[in-house]
Amino acid sequence: MNKIIILTVFLIFSQLCAHSQTTITKWKDDKKGAVSITFDDGNRNQFKYALPILERLQLPATFYVITGPIIGSQYPGKFIGRNVDDIIKETATIPTDSTNYFERASAAKYLNRIGADAYYDKSAIAFEDGKIDKAYKIMDTLYQKARNGSFKTGIEYSDEVAQEMGLSWDSIKVYASKGYEFASHTVTHTHLAVLDTTNINYELYKSKEDIRNHLGDEYTFDAEIPFGIEHPRALKYGFPAYAALRNMVRDSFMFEINRGYKTQPGSSDKEYVQWQRGPLSKTTLDQMKSYIDTTLAHNNIWLVLVFHGINGLGWEALPDSVLAAYFHYIKQNESNLWITTFKEAGKYMRERMHTTVTENKNDKKISVQLTQSLDEHVYNVPLTLKTYVPKNWKSVKVVQGNHQQKLQPKNDASGNYILYDAMPGKTNIELSVL
Ligand SMILES: [Zn+2]
Repeated sequence: MNKIIILTVFLIFSQLCAHSQTTITKWKDDKKGAVSITFDDGNRNQFKYALPILERLQLPATFYVITGPIIGSQYPGKFIGRNVDDIIKETATIPTDSTNYFERASAAKYLNRIGADAYYDKSAIAFEDGKIDKAYKIMDTLYQKARNGSFKTGIEYSDEVAQEMGLSWDSIKVYASKGYEFASHTVTHTHLAVLDTTNINYELYKSKEDIRNHLGDEYTFDAEIPFGIEHPRALKYGFPAYAALRNMVRDSFMFEINRGYKTQPGSSDKEYVQWQRGPLSKTTLDQMKSYIDTTLAHNNIWLVLVFHGINGLGWEALPDSVLAAYFHYIKQNESNLWITTFKEAGKYMRERMHTTVTENKNDKKISVQLTQSLDEHVYNVPLTLKTYVPKNWKSVKVVQGNHQQKLQPKNDASGNYILYDAMPGKTNIELSVL
């Protein structure tokens, strides 16, 4: 009786194994975690100081740039709507309320008046904090000052735009050709939650169009809406515009810990954890290194690092010497960490979670089929497959379409295996003994 049960269990177990010899590794090349280095605002010191360090270490990174001010852009910041003088005039008799707030906020930066920007910012922050009446009142003050001549005439630039001045598409193209990701940080780095629909969409889609026209579709996968905003109104328009936003994770298989949060990444049992850390000027190098150590101590963490200012220019500026030491530390751990752009990491995880693997085998051949439910024109990052092979296969040929690899098996507790790259959703993969 016992023998029959044991035999049955053995048969079921061996059947299961026969169908699950190939898996997609959690991270590319079967590493223990992923790290994406990202920079916001297109700050010129990022290209002057950080990029040369990254290039020297051969580390990839993602730059979220404000597209309007970039030299060569087709779409500068602008207000789309009625004549601003008519709007200013109207504010003398009609107080700001829910019917006109978004229009007034959208026009506020384009009144040709120096000083209006500070009121616009305060009003937007109040709105984002849910203090709606306060937001309306500040908007009323802004327009009152515009009417009574309190502001000087002229154009003013936000700090972020001023930090980016001088950046051109010509230089971005050179950086992109070296493997750096460039992605949208909107047209003008403004508060999207307070704009009207037309102007929100201009910020999102014209930024995307300039990126597409200069770099190609491949760079329009993700974006970061300014100020790390998580306001539902900004995200309502942002999510349909881009496949991914660094602002907020939408994938049900991923737990997100945002920059300011203290939650420890080990506490989630989700398949993946996106752990964002944004080192500030007071953050020590040891603290920054500990993010890497924590990522290595688990197997499901995607560490997304967010940097802004460098060497005195920009928000929470860090000295380049600290960045150099930190990037060097990251590089030292490259054998265990997949260091990649935001886009590549984001695509890999989605591909893996939306791909099913089937396998057929005989003594001489194993054929593997990947079936993916995503658009393969967008989701084009090679997946790492791990296939267990018979002990007597000393060398293995892997063929997928025109792509051939020759590999020597490694081994772990479960047997001999090979790790290899495969494109999702493409033709069969054939493994054979050499
Ligand atoms: Zn920003």
